[in-house]
Amino acid sequence: DQSEGADLQEFARARNVKYFMVSYTDLFGGQRAKLVPAQAIADMQKEGAGFAGFATWLDLTPAHPDMLAVPDPSSVIQLPWKPEVAWLASDCLMEGKGVAQAPRNTLKRLVAEAAKEGMRVKTGVEPEFFLVTPDGKHISDEYDTASKSCYDQQAVMRRYDVIAEICDAMLDLGWQPYQNDHEDANGQFEMNWAFDDVLATADKHSFFKFMVKSIAEKHGLRATFMPKPFQGLTGSGCHAHISVWDLGGKTNAFADKDMELGLSEKGRHFLGGIMKHASALAAITNPTVNSYKRINAPRTVSGATWAPNTVTWTGNNRTHMVRVPGPGRFELRLPDGAANPYLMQAAIIAAGLSGIRTKADPGQRSDIDMYKDGHTVTHGAKLPLNLLDALRAYDDDAELKAAMGEEFSSAYIKLKTQEWNSYASHFTQWERDHTLDV
Ligand code: GLU
Ligand code: MG
Ligand code: MG
Repeated sequence: DQSEGADLQEFARARNVKYFMVSYTDLFGGQRAKLVPAQAIADMQKEGAGFAGFATWLDLTPAHPDMLAVPDPSSVIQLPWKPEVAWLASDCLMEGKGVAQAPRNTLKRLVAEAAKEGMRVKTGVEPEFFLVTPDGKHISDEYDTASKSCYDQQAVMRRYDVIAEICDAMLDLGWQPYQNDHEDANGQFEMNWAFDDVLATADKHSFFKFMVKSIAEKHGLRATFMPKPFQGLTGSGCHAHISVWDLGGKTNAFADKDMELGLSEKGRHFLGGIMKHASALAAITNPTVNSYKRINAPRTVSGATWAPNTVTWTGNNRTHMVRVPGPGRFELRLPDGAANPYLMQAAIIAAGLSGIRTKADPGQRSDIDMYKDGHTVTHGAKLPLNLLDALRAYDDDAELKAAMGEEFSSAYIKLKTQEWNSYASHFTQWERDHTLDV
């Protein structure tokens, strides 16, 4: 545990840290930073590091005053692969006020909303990623060609040096990692560590992506969290396991052994909010054009994609959007590797709180095999088919938009619609192939 970082100068002295990376996360999930020498960190802690508005990707213009990233000392992590540098997550300020649309600020606001109602949200995330060649075009292990590669022992050992270096780092950081595996697609891996308070998990999740990419590069590889990097191979999800506790963090308010699947009434209502807002939620949890190639993919060679395409929930069955694997929590299988670590959690809380306030009913659970019998589902709605559908669903969901904040919502819809428009105006060979001879 490195949370003794309140005095960052002292932290630097005690641990021989030469530089702090003052980092914040933009609306696209990108991490941007200034590398600050330890001698200057005390001032930065007070004033914040300055960033030109337009280049922040927080929907600011060139004429805006500087955005200031004020590091949160409780987030400090010494880089395990470069111990003379320490990373800090920051809150974004402008002219003394929080930048409402900044992702970490947005999550903190939702955490405070939940706390007002006596709720402390805890979350674990399950990020999946591919190790690819430096040009990003191919998986990096030419032996990894098995058609059923999930949990492949031989293949995970071929990447032992990378995986063990990352896992050792998590052990040293006190994250309590507990398993690593080769996933369903060739070249795909997943690493898991213990769940925590939602803000701590979001900070760790951000750092994890930075760490995996950095350590992969050190080994001459490239790591990608892209939702569907290869057509025909399973995509990369980022499942979230959610539970709500009392403010002291001692009692799980989602656990009730007398209720269906051990999920309490509060848990059911939270889940009801997720079901109700799912299509809009997708705009945040599945934020790229490519995201929809994962959730709407046809079956892969192994017979399943393991990604949902309907708004349905179930018990311990991986073919639905929500799985209740055991009492006291549920797994949302919707988010993908491109999801912004802060925004995905903020949107989950926003939808869940709405469910609790309105006593939303998640509806009947479905226990069928969605890959085999999905066509028989008449109740659950289909998830959006593309980013534009999702953005429209979000724009139509006044309740979720308000809960996420009007400034955030309009900035997000604006930047993401620009991204969609850029994609939609891009000419493809597919069109030529399918239209030339019409
Ligand atoms: N890769 C799958 C997805 O896209 C998830 C596989 C699993 O259940 O771990 O969500
Ligand atoms: Mg997985
Ligand atoms: Mg999972």
